[in-house]
Amino acid sequence: MDALDGNAIGGTLIDVFGAEMTTASSTCGTCGASRPVADLAVYMRAPGTVVRCPTCDSVLMVFVKAHGVTCAVDLAGMTSLNRAGPSLSSGTGSGTYPYA
Ligand SMILES: [Zn+2]
Repeated sequence: MDALDGNAIGGTLIDVFGAEMTTASSTCGTCGASRPVADLAVYMRAPGTVVRCPTCDSVLMVFVKAHGVTCAVDLAGMTSLNRAGPSLSSGTGSGTYPYA
């Protein structure tokens, strides 16, 4: 089974996170390797998409598409996923997260 790279799921990530995430920085929860999402190993086998750490092969993310909606069913393999853009925390101005 050949792995694709994170760019293969750019559209999926936009569906799930509502933002371009291939340039986001991910950190593997198993080996601590940090790299852009675009550099992760992606295995697309219906009905799910599995994203693995290229360093230790741990599962970082699992996406499943059901009824036309893509859901992130498991993000537990990562310790962090940080988008390198300016608007992640400032959001769209309508955020209600009680950060303060
Ligand atoms: Zn790893």
